Amino acid sequence: MPSLIADNLNTIRATLPSGVSLVAVSKFHPADAIRQAYDAGQRIFGESRANEFVDKAQSLPDDICWHFIGHLQTNKVRQILPYTSLIHSVDSERLLRLIDTESKRIDRRTDVLLQIHVALEETKFGFSPAELQALLDSGVIDTLQSVRVRGVMGMASNVDDNDRITADFQAIARCFDMAHSHLGNDCDILSMGMSHDYPLAIASGANMVRVGSSIFGERCY
Ligand SMILES: *Cc1c(COP(=O)(O)O)cnc(C)c1O
Repeated sequence: MPSLIADNLNTIRATLPSGVSLVAVSKFHPADAIRQAYDAGQRIFGESRANEFVDKAQSLPDDICWHFIGHLQTNKVRQILPYTSLIHSVDSERLLRLIDTESKRIDRRTDVLLQIHVALEETKFGFSPAELQALLDSGVIDTLQSVRVRGVMGMASNVDDNDRITADFQAIARCFDMAHSHLGNDCDILSMGMSHDYPLAIASGANMVRVGSSIFGERCY
């Protein structure tokens, strides 16, 4: 029997241009909901809390690509690293260096995105465009041995004004261009857009969107 989750997924997929990948944000939803999406063909899932992330990664199928999208505390890095295929939320140089050190220690290479902060409120985490520029100019990223910076992630302001949302996405897209011109073709992911604004994000160049409630329903915190 096709589930509501499968229907939602198919509806969203039909709106995505080719070349845009979909992260199904399953935070706060049970393993059973993830299974339904998995059975509908979804393989990329996003989680935002370390303990929940690890529990789900350990109990669900091995061919799932787990993306970490929430604020990552330095004391949780070691716990999540073995399961991550992409960390979207690297918001400080310290965290970046720590992920490099820990990845080296377990002989892995970790793909990450740098989180950009342009929104009015939403989160205090992330690099401003000027801070990103400074990080790129510092050459620190070139010294990392076990981390590959694959692009940037950002969120628009949580407002109803589409012009403001688009302005935020364009600012994040300019950060992506900046990173791409420093780091080259390995830097190829622009992660932006959530349930209510992902079409605007795609219009501004996103090639990865992170959609939760439109797939799984409202979260019960
Ligand atoms: C929760 C979350 C999402 C998904 O939000 P929805 O509005 O449920 O689609 C996307 N990105 C991040 C960083 C999130 O924390």
